[in-house]
Amino acid sequence: MRILIVGAGIYGLCAAWALRRAGHDVVMFEQHTVGNPLGSSGDQHRLIRYAYGETPGYMRMVGDGYAAWDRMWRDLGVKLQIETGTLALGQAGTNWCAQSQALLEGDRHEVETLDRKTLAARFPLIDPQGVEQAFYLKTGGALLADRITTTLARFLREQGVAIHEHMRVAAIDADAGRLHLEDGTVHAADLTLVCAGPWVSRLVPELGSSVTPSRQVVIYLEPPPEQRAAWVAHPMLLDIGDGAGFYMVPPVAAPDLQGRSGGWTGLKIGDHSFSLTGDPDRDRQPALAEAAPILEQCAKRLRGFDRFHVAELKTCFYTVEPREHFIARQLGQAGWALSCCSGHGFKFASAIGEGFASLLAGGITAEHFSRWVGGQSVHSPVAR
Ligand SMILES: Cc1cc2nc3c(=O)[nH]c(=O)nc-3n(C[C@H](O)[C@H](O)[C@H](O)COP(=O)(O)OP(=O)(O)OC[C@H]3O[C@@H](n4cnc5c(N)ncnc54)[C@H](O)[C@@H]3O)c2cc1C
Repeated sequence: MRILIVGAGIYGLCAAWALRRAGHDVVMFEQHTVGNPLGSSGDQHRLIRYAYGETPGYMRMVGDGYAAWDRMWRDLGVKLQIETGTLALGQAGTNWCAQSQALLEGDRHEVETLDRKTLAARFPLIDPQGVEQAFYLKTGGALLADRITTTLARFLREQGVAIHEHMRVAAIDADAGRLHLEDGTVHAADLTLVCAGPWVSRLVPELGSSVTPSRQVVIYLEPPPEQRAAWVAHPMLLDIGDGAGFYMVPPVAAPDLQGRSGGWTGLKIGDHSFSLTGDPDRDRQPALAEAAPILEQCAKRLRGFDRFHVAELKTCFYTVEPREHFIARQLGQAGWALSCCSGHGFKFASAIGEGFASLLAGGITAEHFSRWVGGQSVHSPVAR
């Protein structure tokens, strides 16, 4: 089949990877550059973790994600994922931590419950004040987002996938399998796939009522020098409060594109709540005031926080679906759209790409595929 993909963020690239592997001809159009830093996939890292609150579908899909990333690392010849382990904290009045632990234990993950005393002894950089529940999992880590998009795009080009950058798609004719580009050209294929991140509702207006673009701020911090070695060895932190909370990605040693040591990523924190405002084509400059609520939470949780320095602030854009589920929508006779974000979609992109290839091969029905992508089915269409 000849397939046209709109968007070269992680979803477009992973779909192209799985479709090319399945023997399809793939052509991609990207309005900016691969892994557009203004989109959802740019930046140093994204977390992969099994802790998933009350959604068993997504918790199980993390295993699909791990298996699919392993297949990708074999193709790329370099593993762009670093395991850190997961430390999850639940504050008073929240169930997320307890729900995650119950589901994980039900699926026989090795969960280590930490009471406040053990938490303080094992993780002395964390202030346990206000923590009602805590657990540690050996699994979980960082996917090196920028390195993945760059390396994957290079691999896809070697495999014959055409990736056209700085070419904006103006409209799709999903029944005819056609894309109309802003430069006036028209491209035809057997199928079109829209992976347009926070711009998706401009091309697929019917998704506009389901997803909202949301401007998010992330903060890179420099810890005090005497804490640096301990942070490097620290698990990721998920600190979940009532309608708030933050996540922390520790610095990890990232390989360069040849698999050699390529330096350290930064210590990053981000918000668990959504702004649900903003326009992905504007509003890019972060203000320190936007970061203040996250910094306030960190000040309560991270010891010696008055000696941390803000190294960098960045903005990026999500699409948010009200239940934080993902959407796979069939468009007309010859089109599909994938909108998989709500701040947690990166880890699944390789598996969902494979699931889409399986759909085209007849290995799964359209209904099952959409339910699985939406976190509503624990039956996976991809190999473990
Ligand atoms: C701050 C932040 C933290 C996150 N943390 C995590 C995490 O820890 N773990 C996790 O799993 N996930 C996380 N996510 C979510 C994850 O990054 C997203 O789910 C994922 O990147 C979505 O990828 P995408 O390809 O759908 O979108 P994008 O990366 O935005 O890609 C869409 C692409 O389409 C292009 N495009 C749009 N319209 C057009 C057009 N008309 N013509 C041509 N090209 C077009 C855009 O330029 C863009 O490059 C986070 C997201 C953010 C923003």
